Amino acid sequence: MTRSGHDYLASLRDGREIWLDGERVGDVTAHPAFRNTAASIARLYDLAHDSGHTPVLTQGGVHRAYAIPRSYEDLVARREAYKVWAEASFGFLGRTPDYMAGGAAGFAALPGLFTTGTYDGSAAALDCHRRLAEGDLYPAFTIANPQIDRTRAASEQEEDDLVVRVVAEKDGGIVVRGAKMIGTGAVFGNEVIVGTIEPLAPQDADHAVCFSVPVATPGLKLVSRTSYEAAARSAFDNPLSSRFDENDALLVCDDVFVPWERVLTYRDVDATCRMWWQTPAFLNLTHQAATRFWTKLEFLTGLAILITRANNTHELPQVTQAVGRLLGFVAQAKAFVLAAEASYEEVDGGRGGVAPGQDISYAQRVMAGELYPRAVQEIKLLAGGGLIQLPAAGADLLHPELGPLIRKYVRSPGTPAEERVKLLKLAWDALGSEFAGRHEQYERFYHGAPHVYLPQQTWAGGAPACEALAQSCLDGYGLEGAR
Ligand SMILES: Cc1cc2nc3c(=O)[nH]c(=O)nc-3n(C[C@H](O)[C@H](O)[C@H](O)COP(=O)(O)OP(=O)(O)OC[C@H]3O[C@@H](n4cnc5c(N)ncnc54)[C@H](O)[C@@H]3O)c2cc1C
Repeated sequence: MTRSGHDYLASLRDGREIWLDGERVGDVTAHPAFRNTAASIARLYDLAHDSGHTPVLTQGGVHRAYAIPRSYEDLVARREAYKVWAEASFGFLGRTPDYMAGGAAGFAALPGLFTTGTYDGSAAALDCHRRLAEGDLYPAFTIANPQIDRTRAASEQEEDDLVVRVVAEKDGGIVVRGAKMIGTGAVFGNEVIVGTIEPLAPQDADHAVCFSVPVATPGLKLVSRTSYEAAARSAFDNPLSSRFDENDALLVCDDVFVPWERVLTYRDVDATCRMWWQTPAFLNLTHQAATRFWTKLEFLTGLAILITRANNTHELPQVTQAVGRLLGFVAQAKAFVLAAEASYEEVDGGRGGVAPGQDISYAQRVMAGELYPRAVQEIKLLAGGGLIQLPAAGADLLHPELGPLIRKYVRSPGTPAEERVKLLKLAWDALGSEFAGRHEQYERFYHGAPHVYLPQQTWAGGAPACEALAQSCLDGYGLEGAR
């Protein structure tokens, strides 16, 4: 059974160790840095109980993202579910529970990959998926090592225990110590999956571990970044950051005990990396992310259109062209989702169901990381200084002296001051605020750094076919016709 928003919020009051501004946070559902976003996530859970949305969001009583797709139609149905939740936050909550739900379904599609010569994590992988799906839990994840020194392997940093590693085996499990980045949404999660998606060095066996534990596990600490929600004045002044600040946290394991049944890979460099790439986990994550990205571009383009109408510039030829360019970006983002579905692949000859096509899914990262900053730039150019020439607070409109001044000078034909200020404050929150800056960094890096995914694209992105086509052209003629 899927949970209600009320049940979800209750699950967060579990004694978890969250730190913000030098203080331990007692209850994220009540704290001014987190409560509105927790409520926004709770509303996602409630949508599954709304009769209009239940058939879209669930399958067999669980959220659709947890189902292992068996056909093209299942992929389309899963995307329709992703779209409902993405639209509920206008694409600004990236790591909603459906993101890693798809990852867990990917592990369960190919549990055999977790069985190696030295450790059998297949039961843990299946159990992780079952537990999360049946409990309708919110899985966050930290699968990148802290930056520290990117030229050194995890085991060769200047101190031990900087990157999460196994420090002991105890009765019934292991003890882990060290840090991981970046736990987006982790303060709102129920479990956190800790692992490594990028290749580790052969000498990093102690760091080659993947496990999933409750956020409230003793010794597990989340050190939160600045809260944009806490800095927000009101929904009118900061409509996105006040409600959709999913937060990012440093995860620290201070001698955390992990029972074996929660350990998916153990001291195995290959298995720890392979579990993301050779199961459909990464392809499933990208399916959610690409759907959300498409939705976010739809929203931003809609904002651009409203701004040009408010400024009465929308019929100017250059403005029409700019809007056309933005709509072209939206179509590109949509096309990546539909094409990944249409080029679906069978997993393990169909025994593991199907997954979105790898070529298109991998390429989506290249497209999205480059397109997002361009789209933001394009809209800022359309909006001009109106994004800045705004009263400090919406409440100024209600002030007896200021209100009439603002109404007189901050307006446009057919758009009264209150509507104009409301629109442009929303636009600034999306495009220029600190929250917006974090979103630009998110879209560029959440799927890895370019120096990782661009070479991967070169190896896996269909280079041989491109090269062969160009070579076939060269092979079709010679010097004989040169005279
Ligand atoms: C807002 C946000 C949210 C995130 N959320 C999550 C999350 O929920 N879970 C999670 O696990 N991760 C998350 N990530 C982390 C993400 O996985 C990492 O940012 C990503 O893996 C890239 O690693 P990095 O940021 O350490 O960049 P680095 O690998 O340090 O790269 C940064 C830059 O350094 C240079 N560089 C570094 N190494 C090399 C090299 N070997 N060769 C050439 N150039 C190099 C390049 O210029 C590169 O662009 C998030 C990131 C952001 C920004």
